[in-house]
Amino acid sequence: MVKITIDGKKISAKEGETVLKAAQRAGIFIPTLCNNDAVKPYSACRMCLVEVAKNGRTKLVTSCDYPVEEGIEVNTNTERIQRDRKVILELLIARTGETPELKKLAEKVGVKEVRFKVRNFDDCILCGLCVRVCDEVVGAHAIGFRGRGMEREVVPPFDVENEQCLACGACAEICPVNIIDIFEHDGTRELPKWHKKSRLVACRVCGKYFATEEEIEMIRAKTGLPDEILYVCPDCREHNFTI
Ligand code: SF4
Repeated sequence: MVKITIDGKKISAKEGETVLKAAQRAGIFIPTLCNNDAVKPYSACRMCLVEVAKNGRTKLVTSCDYPVEEGIEVNTNTERIQRDRKVILELLIARTGETPELKKLAEKVGVKEVRFKVRNFDDCILCGLCVRVCDEVVGAHAIGFRGRGMEREVVPPFDVENEQCLACGACAEICPVNIIDIFEHDGTRELPKWHKKSRLVACRVCGKYFATEEEIEMIRAKTGLPDEILYVCPDCREHNFTI
């Protein structure tokens, strides 16, 4: 264990964990938009800035990827941090407009007005969670960043019908500002943002749609399971079906 201090509170942190994780375990709030335990830290949104003091020197770091070190003193809410966080959030709101999620965060960090011109350029905050979950968890590599500055955006390859996408919905699930629409109708699942439409597969036991054809094929390729198992939904596998 590593002994650190956060906002004056003495904490035993786990070797190798980040300052953000240690703070969260101790019930200390640090705002973040781009962090999720399912994927590696990326420090894209920079909302999780904290001050770390060590050997008499203080520096500003992103807590989501800063590992704990014996004896460090962390401050999560100094005047400097409050000021920087407000500017970061105002810039994000200037890009996206005031989405409900950003509005909630603005209230928490004390943003009362946005001092930059709101361009409402795109709803996406470029946190990269969708790209990272698709790469690191799903393994489909179906979307990525394109462009720079205000023109930067997340798109499928060549921005055309996306063959790599499994329509699994993990990206929509993880998006912190809920801008990846996912629709299900007439036995299909659609993610218009990625130009993806897939047929859904119905469970052979209960008849409920539970996965896309692409997901089933990916599981088949990875596991070699037979159709009798692949085409049965997880609920029926658990309750009605002996593998
Ligand atoms: S729905 Fe497509 S883009 Fe989104 S995580 Fe799944 S495979 Fe990737």
